[in-house]
Amino acid sequence: MKRTNLPPQKEASKRRIAGHAQQDHILDPYQRRQKLEDGTLCPQCGAAYRHGRWQWAARAKTDHEELCPACRRINDKFPAGILALKGAFARDHREELIHLARHQEEAEKTEHPLNRIMSIEEGPSEILIKTTDIHLPRRIGEAITRAFHGALEESFEEDGYFLRVTWRRES
Ligand SMILES: [Zn+2]
Repeated sequence: MKRTNLPPQKEASKRRIAGHAQQDHILDPYQRRQKLEDGTLCPQCGAAYRHGRWQWAARAKTDHEELCPACRRINDKFPAGILALKGAFARDHREELIHLARHQEEAEKTEHPLNRIMSIEEGPSEILIKTTDIHLPRRIGEAITRAFHGALEESFEEDGYFLRVTWRRES
């Protein structure tokens, strides 16, 4: 039997991920293993760690301050996800696509403070939307597909805890 040149773990890591649940057992290196003090405040974005998760809350006085994982990724310029928008249609409809991406981010961020757009880079052949989490690229990609059709493809690298989603429409 012919063997493939790729090591098996490399092949497995390129598989298509169907849903969020499959990724939840894989550890984000930016998530702390030990619990934070309840009420810990991120001095950069103002999110508060309460009841085991980061939430938006009115600022309260606290002795415990620590950067949240999203702000640490932003400061490190180290995205967890990238959505690449490609093709002639993407080039001709930049504004609409970016507007829709921002709208999706707003909706997501309200519920999940750690899920944010880090940067939007407009290159000659693609728009790159970098995110602080692995859920937002898919959420934005699916919204774009609902609105504008096109083709969506994704690959998740378990080793690097990194999701890359590509959306493409040529005409
Ligand atoms: Zn923060």
